[in-house]
Amino acid sequence: MNAPVLSIREVRKEFGQVRALDGVSLDVHEGETVVVIGPSGSGKSTLVRCAHQLEPIDGGALYLDGELLGYRRSGRGLRSLSERKIALQRRRMSMVFQQFNLFPQFTVLRNVTDAAIRVHRRDRSTVEREATELLERIGLADRAGHYPRQLSGGQQQRVAIARAVLARPRIMLFDEPTSALDPELVDEVLAVLRDLAATGTTMVVVTHEMAFARDVADRCVFMESGRIVEEGSPAELFGNPRSERLRGFLSRHR
Ligand code: ADP
Ligand code: MG
Repeated sequence: MNAPVLSIREVRKEFGQVRALDGVSLDVHEGETVVVIGPSGSGKSTLVRCAHQLEPIDGGALYLDGELLGYRRSGRGLRSLSERKIALQRRRMSMVFQQFNLFPQFTVLRNVTDAAIRVHRRDRSTVEREATELLERIGLADRAGHYPRQLSGGQQQRVAIARAVLARPRIMLFDEPTSALDPELVDEVLAVLRDLAATGTTMVVVTHEMAFARDVADRCVFMESGRIVEEGSPAELFGNPRSERLRGFLSRHR
């Protein structure tokens, strides 16, 4: 197998006395969809936030396509990279949050294209063509000129996902992308994630949507207390949970 796109090695993260990540290792390979499940407070958000370098880590290491993230090796050990270098590394990943964080003053089209053109310096006409195709694919072609306030939560989240796709990241990180939505809007967002997974996007999805995890994950990870307690195919995790903790969790999340 090729080198992982994202490699998380023995990562530790503490908030005061709280061990949010207690030595977590996870590799995500090209085209793979890894779904992370686990109870509230188990460290799922911290894991993807650290992977995206929104939080500095306290131990271990992260690699993107084999490149060490956040640090460079120098004579006696590791030195932090400058903010500017970290920002450049961060652009090679996209993260989608619970809250969609669209720009209220921009149209849908501009929300989707702005970062790709101005931050990623992609060619405007190419980006606009791709944006139009993408909006079509996610069922929002007729909303290109609308503003976020004119859209439902599910539509706004689909726009946020389209924006993340157009940055052409090596990997997409999703932190509970449907948790802020009314229940009837969840499926339209999960459908976009399914489509991305089916078309070979490399992604990590933190979710409480167990049916989605079961159907879409290539690999599923169960976290508790800052650790990966079980990891395997959805059939293994859902069909044959080994730990009492996972059995308990699954019985509460049907
Ligand atoms: P999850 O996403 O699985 O619900 P989190 O990663 O948000 O879990 O949190 C893991 C642990 O770290 C929790 O105990 C949480 O309270 C703590 N934590 C997370 N972020 C912070 C923060 N910014 N400051 C202090 N504690 C935090
Ligand atoms: Mg969380």
